[in-house]
Amino acid sequence: MTQIARVYVGVQPRAAGDRVVKLDAAAAHRLATVRHARRGDRVVLFDGAGWQVGAHVERVERAGILVERDEEWHPGVSVDRAEVTWIQAVPKGDKLEDIVRAATELGVSTVVPVQTERSVPTRGPSLARGTRLRAVAIAAAEQCGRADVPTIAPFALLHEALASLPERVATRLVLWERADRPVSQALRAAPPGAVAVLSGPEGGFEAAEVELAGRHGFVAVSLGARILRAETVAPAVLGIIAALHGDLVT
Ligand code: SAH
Repeated sequence: MTQIARVYVGVQPRAAGDRVVKLDAAAAHRLATVRHARRGDRVVLFDGAGWQVGAHVERVERAGILVERDEEWHPGVSVDRAEVTWIQAVPKGDKLEDIVRAATELGVSTVVPVQTERSVPTRGPSLARGTRLRAVAIAAAEQCGRADVPTIAPFALLHEALASLPERVATRLVLWERADRPVSQALRAAPPGAVAVLSGPEGGFEAAEVELAGRHGFVAVSLGARILRAETVAPAVLGIIAALHGDLVT
């Protein structure tokens, strides 16, 4: 039997030590209608905290799907060794979702959506949008084979996000098209360990915001003469970081 899906089940089944797990309605629906799951089909369950386990479909009923694990939970592929916090000024439309998806694939540790002077004003309850982004991150983790799910921090104002960054994050970069220093130069000079990157909205940063970031230890870096869109910047820079300091095989 081939493996038909990776399924996020949260931390509860592992904590409880259950052999048989009842999938929640969303996962069951996806397995039944998209993957046409049948008894005996192989799946991999992951808990979003870095653990996974091989299992098989035990029962498919209208009431739900039961899966039974075939082995013990073990650590799966997770966050990139270059532990990156991606601080993103909120862009237009669905772009934040695209950024979260790419960031998950590229092994980011945390995404922090921030409101800046020129970013799109956040509309609607931010809790609902946070939940939506978490769902995007879970789907991306399922697809790319991560056993953990990156943290999506609550929407914050820029100065709040900068102030709450843990002190141990030694390498701090703000992407600014007017900076002189190339991003790779700053990264090569950086000690191993956690990295935070601040990336701007479509309209760019105000100079005062780059100064504010500077007061929090952020060094302004450039990607060269071409201006990249917000949703292009994240995969480009995360690729550079993971190639220089992390697990991206080049
Ligand atoms: N300021 C621009 C466009 C902003 S692009 C304008 O006036 O329209 C969105 C964000 O991507 C920027 O705020 C910056 O953080 C990042 N960015 C894009 N291209 C960049 C480059 N060549 N160097 C550094 N950062 C860049």
